[in-house]
Amino acid sequence: MLLAHSPVQTVELFGAPVYLKRDDLLHHAFGGNKARKFAALLEHNFDNVELLVGHGSPQANSLYTMAALAQLKGCQLDFYVDHIAGWLKSNPNGNYRAALELGANIVELAALPDAEGLSVAEYISTRVLPEYGEEGTRKVLFVPEGGRCGLAEAGVNQLAKELVYWQQQQGLGVVNVVLPAGTGTTALFLSRYFTQHHHNLKVFTVAAVGGDDYLKLQFNELDSDESCHPQIVSLGRKYHFGKLYRAFYDIWQEANSSGVTFELLYDPLGLMALKQLQQQYNDGVFLYVHQGGVLGNETMLPRYKRKYGIELG
Ligand SMILES: *Cc1c(COP(=O)(O)O)cnc(C)c1O
Repeated sequence: MLLAHSPVQTVELFGAPVYLKRDDLLHHAFGGNKARKFAALLEHNFDNVELLVGHGSPQANSLYTMAALAQLKGCQLDFYVDHIAGWLKSNPNGNYRAALELGANIVELAALPDAEGLSVAEYISTRVLPEYGEEGTRKVLFVPEGGRCGLAEAGVNQLAKELVYWQQQQGLGVVNVVLPAGTGTTALFLSRYFTQHHHNLKVFTVAAVGGDDYLKLQFNELDSDESCHPQIVSLGRKYHFGKLYRAFYDIWQEANSSGVTFELLYDPLGLMALKQLQQQYNDGVFLYVHQGGVLGNETMLPRYKRKYGIELG
């Protein structure tokens, strides 16, 4: 399995050459951004782990990656979600379908009689985890939503090292690294690595979940030293996570004409940020991190088709 050392290619995006870090090519199931964030779990000793517990959206890339991890490690995955939309249940596709095929147990909180208005995170901490033994002997391993925790640092540092090595090989000066942020964990750990090791790579990101202030909060929770935070690119308007926008589809399609398929949930924002930065610093060297997740397009494309009547090729 190729779990590190993804290639960097040169593609043309918005009329200019851009380096593209192809983390989408890491592995079909244990791939992309979540493979980086969960890399430490791949090394983790699962001898004592019977159950992997996660939570998030039933369309999440992390659901698929955790399902692949559980299968590889021979344990059960219980993945808690708020609610599964009827259309997805009756027509499973994308990450949801792939995770089911890998044997994931996807638990819908809305269908549990003892949920009592608890959030998924509260339910897990008060109802699920206490069922298992004392710390140290417990046979359950819990991963916070989207891998937003220190566990992600090792794998993201590996990504950072690959970029530094590549930059040195190419003999490049300042490289502007662009990637969209969900929890912001990947962008923050990348930026912190470059800052702490005094490398000439600067991280720019854009908030896909919540707004700029929320993203700043997330950065601060991981590291209160603002000098190592990524620079947040503000787009002219607010977009809600998971919602469909014509502009998202259009920029996604424009970027796909480079010959590489991007994903439809985070990349439209990342690409908008890239385009804005290219205009702002037109002699800058840009590297975009393709963080995978294209299986989710299987879920997103039919939604775009329904909403905009877009003809899908
Ligand atoms: C999870 C994910 C992100 C967001 O990563 P964070 O570390 O939470 O910011 C971006 N792109 C893709 C494709 C992802 O799966």
